[in-house]
Amino acid sequence: MEQAFELSDASAERSAGGCTIRLNKEPIIEYFKSNITLLRWMISEGYGDARTLERRAKAMEEWLKDPQLLEPDADAEYYKIIEIDLNEIKEPLLACPNDPDDIKPLSAVQGTKIDEVFIGSCMTNIGHFRAASEVLKQVKGGIPTRLWVSPPTKMDQHQLVEEGVYSVFGVSGARTEMPGCSLCMGNQARVALQSTVVSTSTRNFPNRLGEGANVFLASSELAAVSSALGRIPTMEEYLGYMKNVDTMADNIYRYLNFNEIKSYMEAAEKAKTIPLVNVRDVA
Ligand code: SF4
Repeated sequence: MEQAFELSDASAERSAGGCTIRLNKEPIIEYFKSNITLLRWMISEGYGDARTLERRAKAMEEWLKDPQLLEPDADAEYYKIIEIDLNEIKEPLLACPNDPDDIKPLSAVQGTKIDEVFIGSCMTNIGHFRAASEVLKQVKGGIPTRLWVSPPTKMDQHQLVEEGVYSVFGVSGARTEMPGCSLCMGNQARVALQSTVVSTSTRNFPNRLGEGANVFLASSELAAVSSALGRIPTMEEYLGYMKNVDTMADNIYRYLNFNEIKSYMEAAEKAKTIPLVNVRDVA
C-alpha cells in the first residue's frame, strides 16, 4: 500500500492528470485496519476535527465488513498500453540534475562527487529510514557529506527513535530535522549554494533544494551509500553496502501497522469512550 502511494505520488510529479493502481484487497484491508487505529489515536491525542476523524474510521469499518474494489471495465479502451519488464532493470535509476525526467542508470553517473544528501519527503516510508541506518552502521567514523534526515510524520520519527535508528543517524553526524516536507519544500532548510546533492524527494527543479544546487533523485538506500562515500557509488560498492539490508529485508521493510502497536491500540480504545457531540451524517 505504501509503495502504491509512493508510485501514485510520483506520477503527480510527472504531471499525470490521475493515477490508479490496482491492488488486491489484502494490503488495503491491512492498511485500513492500521489507519482506523491511527485515526482513533489522533482523536485521543486531541487532533481535530474529532467528528470527521471518527466518521472516517466508521466508514472504513463499514467497508471492511464487505470489502469491494472498483474494477476496470473489461471492454475499456486505452490510449496507450506501456509494459515495463522490471527484470530488465539491472541497476538503480536516478533522475539527474535538474530534471525529474532525465533518468540514468547508476553506472552512467557513478563517481560524481556529492556534497549533501537528503533522506525524507512524502515519498519515503519508515522502512527507507531503517535501510539507510543499516547502510550507515557500516561506516567507520563520520561521513564526508552533510546528511539531512527527516521522516514524513511524527509517528515515524517516534518509532525510529524507539528502535534506536535515530541514534545511528546521530553517531554518523546526520542532521535530523523536524518531520514533514523539510528540504523537499525548500523553505524550512536549504542545501548549500551550488552544492551537488542526492535526494529522495520528489522534484529536482532548479533552485528548489538550494540556489544553484545540482540535485540527483534516488532511493533512500542509494542516497545513504552516497552519503557514506561522498560520491555516487559504483554498482559493486552499492551492492556491497546493500548485502546487510537485503538479508534483513523482512525486518527493515515493515510498515508501521498502528493496530499492532500497544500504545496506539490503547489510545484508540480510549478514544471510543470520548463523547463526540453533534455527530451527524449529512445526507
Ligand atoms: S513539498 Fe511536501 S508534500 Fe510536496 S512533494 Fe515535497 S514532501 Fe511531498
